[in-house]
Amino acid sequence: MAGTVLRARGGEYLVDTDDGESRSASLRGRLKLEQRTGDRVVAGDRVRILLQEDASCTIEHVEERRSQLTRRAPGRGHPRARVMIANVDQVVIVVAAARPEPRLRMIDRFLVLAETNGLPAFVVVNKTDLADAAGNIARFHPYDLAGYPVVTTSVIDGHGLEEFRERLCGRESVLAGPSGAGKSSLLNAIEPGLGLRIGAIGEAAGKGRHTTVTAELIPLSCSGYVGDTPGLREVGLWGVDLDTLDSAFPEFRPLLGACRFGRSCTHVHEPDCAVREAVTDGQIDAGRFESYLAMRADE
Ligand code: GDP
Ligand code: ZN
Repeated sequence: MAGTVLRARGGEYLVDTDDGESRSASLRGRLKLEQRTGDRVVAGDRVRILLQEDASCTIEHVEERRSQLTRRAPGRGHPRARVMIANVDQVVIVVAAARPEPRLRMIDRFLVLAETNGLPAFVVVNKTDLADAAGNIARFHPYDLAGYPVVTTSVIDGHGLEEFRERLCGRESVLAGPSGAGKSSLLNAIEPGLGLRIGAIGEAAGKGRHTTVTAELIPLSCSGYVGDTPGLREVGLWGVDLDTLDSAFPEFRPLLGACRFGRSCTHVHEPDCAVREAVTDGQIDAGRFESYLAMRADE
């Protein structure tokens, strides 16, 4: 039987099998060995399981991934990247239009994370019902310009919820964004019977001494999954590769190579830099460029 791993914890795997059941499974011996050598089975992996005579299940085979979200520790060394979640189709960054005030520089970090993993992304601006929201919507225009869809929503008056639902159905999405933005509320609104606690999404499972970063998939009744990856909240823990950081900003891409120093330009201090000129001209958003510089400086 084929299925999708919803959660991997302590050698136990919860698998959403294609017949609609959730089954607990363990790894068969050979796969256990791979597990130790670092090639882990994670949430989102497509697997084949075997139902044993004693009704227990074993994972017999793991299919090749079509994508993955990996996390690399920050810093100059190149430690092994750790796969957090497999077969992700898109990254959904949820922020509030107000309360809490949107932090655009944090959105940029999540977008870079999506880009460096080769994943499409879009931005959800929630809480448009709030009186102080209206004045903030225009601040998201740079994302439209950079090619990221911006979807406005309100769980209170229902604005945008149908579009949000449609974008999630049939895909595996990872939700990112600060706590309090409304991620749990949005999922409750589009998935009847889910009943997530307020603030449930993005919380590290088993908070306290060991803050685990185990990802978990929530199945959607319209097909598809939403991945809750607790570690995503602390976006600073995700390292970036300085050599390719500029190409993680889609609006920079057409200009890369047009700088005097070509592809080796860092766009920080070099003369005749096409990227910095575009910022001066207003072609590239100054805030997005500021994020680029800040991410370089942090590494
Ligand atoms: P999460 O931490 O991102 O999962 O955010 P929650 O879903 O827990 O929501 C945080 C708070 O914002 C809760 O008090 C929600 O009731 C509130 N909230 C969520 N969505 C909306 C919205 O669209 N409009 C307003 N006014 N409040 C919202
Ligand atoms: Zn340059």
